[in-house]
Amino acid sequence: MSLPESERSASERRDALKEVFAQASACVRCSELAATRKTVVFGAGNADADLMFVGEAPGASEDEQGLPFVGRAGKLLDQLLAEIGMERKDVFICNTLKCRPPGNRDPLPLEIENCHDYLLRQVELIQPTVICTLGNFATKLLRGDSTGITRLHGQPEVIELGRRAVRLYPIYHPAAALYTPSMLETLREDFSRLPELLVLGAPEQPSAEPPELAEVPDMPDLDDVASAEQDRQAGGAEADQLGLF
Ligand code: URA
Repeated sequence: MSLPESERSASERRDALKEVFAQASACVRCSELAATRKTVVFGAGNADADLMFVGEAPGASEDEQGLPFVGRAGKLLDQLLAEIGMERKDVFICNTLKCRPPGNRDPLPLEIENCHDYLLRQVELIQPTVICTLGNFATKLLRGDSTGITRLHGQPEVIELGRRAVRLYPIYHPAAALYTPSMLETLREDFSRLPELLVLGAPEQPSAEPPELAEVPDMPDLDDVASAEQDRQAGGAEADQLGLF
């Protein structure tokens, strides 16, 4: 029987996260996304971060580079982080979907469902105390409710995700704020309250009932994943992404 994640060391959890990364990198659950993506954008940053950001889905630049939020919205995110004295290496940044929807179309319900386990495993393994959802899409998905970001932004609440209780903190998506100065001001104000939220630490956790790990179903065989990973590393790009957490 395996230990609950809360009893595993940061380095054990990081190793387990690498395995989930390898599994996601070989994922073909969404045939269209698997056929059209250049890379799987798993997420990057500190694998033991207290603060996790969850956006919507990778765009063209993210798909090219295999990293989340590397376009203009990402630059704004970097700037907002700097304003509160933080850097990317202090946080973990990922998306609800790990693959780019072609033409930047909205993610489909089945794609969201297919990818949800990866996000839950990221939360269980990284153990953030605060999850900051960027925009409507991630906020609605993680709250399991259709209330929009205009009503919810800047209001923290404790929710359970998988086996973790976290402080959910919805804020506007930086891509939306790029073009609307009033939204940018609100985003900046909401962002400035992140440090005080982080100081609160983790909310009370649900009782650790079944200590079994929540397995991601229908995973490819790990030996296949390992050899696919070696092939990719021979090509270079994926190794850099792994090095980031
Ligand atoms: N928008 C997102 O939601 N995620 C990214 O990674 C980039 C832009």
